[in-house]
Amino acid sequence: PKHWVLVLGDQLTLDNPALQLGAPADVGVLMIESADESRVVWSHKSRTVLFLSAMRHFAGKLREAGYTVIYNTLTDTAQRSLCEMVFDLCLQHSIRRIDLMEPGEWRLEQGLVDMARQRAVEIRFHDDPHFICSRADFARWAAGYKQLRMEYFYREMRRRTGILMAGAEPEGGQWNFDADNRSAYPKTGPGSIPEPAGFEPDELTLAVMADVERHLPDNPGTFARFGWAVTREQALKALDVFIDHRLRQFGPYQDAMWTDTPFGWHSLLSAAINLHLLNPLEVIQRAEAAYKTGRADLPGVEGFIRQILGWREFMRGVYWMDMPKMRQDNALKADVPLPDWFWTGQTHMACLRDAIGQTLEHAYAHHIQRLMVIGNFALLAGLVPQQVEDWFLAVYVDAVEWVELPNVAGMALFANGGRFTSKPYVASGAYIKRMSNYCGGCRYDPAVKTGDKACPFTTLYWGFLDKHEALLAANPRTGLMAKNIGKLSQAQRIELRGQVARTFEKLQSL
Ligand code: FAD
Ligand code: SF4
Repeated sequence: PKHWVLVLGDQLTLDNPALQLGAPADVGVLMIESADESRVVWSHKSRTVLFLSAMRHFAGKLREAGYTVIYNTLTDTAQRSLCEMVFDLCLQHSIRRIDLMEPGEWRLEQGLVDMARQRAVEIRFHDDPHFICSRADFARWAAGYKQLRMEYFYREMRRRTGILMAGAEPEGGQWNFDADNRSAYPKTGPGSIPEPAGFEPDELTLAVMADVERHLPDNPGTFARFGWAVTREQALKALDVFIDHRLRQFGPYQDAMWTDTPFGWHSLLSAAINLHLLNPLEVIQRAEAAYKTGRADLPGVEGFIRQILGWREFMRGVYWMDMPKMRQDNALKADVPLPDWFWTGQTHMACLRDAIGQTLEHAYAHHIQRLMVIGNFALLAGLVPQQVEDWFLAVYVDAVEWVELPNVAGMALFANGGRFTSKPYVASGAYIKRMSNYCGGCRYDPAVKTGDKACPFTTLYWGFLDKHEALLAANPRTGLMAKNIGKLSQAQRIELRGQVARTFEKLQSL
């Protein structure tokens, strides 16, 4: 081949500009499964199965299209790093230059650039067309602001793309329908929710499962319920099912939680989008078309589009601006080690038991479970950000660092001191009670902050206000929280501090 292209595990699209450098017969492709990548963090088995199965399917597609593919499986690469493998292949095949689409991950980009220099191989990066805003465009937009706020970025993106616009104005006269999108399920429960698409593992996926059991037997989680889309065709089917059956109630119930309802009305498309099986713009356009043809309401559709055109693009932009600092930040000096039950789900706290339990079973939890249950607990308990980040990167089927890290460090943990959030997102048990049925089946009481029945969220929430009172008082957005803690008498504060200390003592067995 005249050209050699490296295709990374989350770049599974024929739209890759590096693949267009010549006719398929003139382009060779390198693809590498690295067990090391599943050990950088202790990756959930379903996450590894998804990545590797999708890669093997895509390699087949490339061969069908006429590309020469050199593909190294886990077996070939057992103990070597991805970067070492790439440049060993270059040596073996006398490759002097490789082209690739820009990686999603900072560490990998640095590693490739460093090793290319050492091994005297030229490396060329190409823009990733699966992002609507390029890294350079984001940096230009950000340069105009003292504080980065997703809302302003999102409006700019709406204007730029014309999505949900009526001329120069937002469709329906407002940019944001969040207020309509925050319902809990009815007291009687979520009712019957149409099933999301699921796909039986085919022979290739079964072979990957066997490899994962052989090479990574001790990794966490299970693939017993694995039904994720591993090809573009399946991902398109999953998109159809979501648009046709689930989008209509996505909006109102996007924040709602209920026992044994792991997926709610959510799309379950994040992994397919992150792996490049779906283009985010096509997903957005399908949702917009559902609104325009009267099949879904504006508030829900706006809410859905905001997540992808707004949050997803914004997170990626901030990640590339703030790395590697984002990975090191610990603004609140949090220093409590991650409790072991994060890896088993065995805790008496019903909300965390459900959210972590489904995470280990499906490698999935929806946004509010991640943010307001698991992330909220990590923030309130002052867990070490880097340990929490590693956990989030390990356990979700959609976990890739460029989107995981800003969500965990920035949104959930306030580890970057509010670079793009106006305040720490902390909540007591009362929030979880309002948005779910978890508290009904729990040994703790969300309304109680001290005593045997005290809900750890509520105790730690008040403990957080107590510990960070000065910080909260200095921020107009959190002034009210500081006022609330200020109302406690000295005796109440002493009682609270005693309860907080006891909660930390039994953190492993809460
Ligand atoms: P839906 O609720 O159906 O939303 C639609 C789409 O919007 C998603 O598929 C996703 O592409 C996008 N989206 C929604 N929220 C966000 C967000 N906050 N940031 C970026 N994109 C968003 N998402 C990941 O893709 N990978 C991660 O590793 C990841 N880690 C997270 C960690 C924490 C602590 C939090 C709070 C959020 C995280 N998210 C992550 C964002 C979000 O929770 C998931 O994208 C979403 O839950 C995936 O499920 P879904 O496809 O059913 O999403
Ligand atoms: Fe979670 Fe507290 Fe409710 Fe129990 S009482 S489910 S710990 S919020």
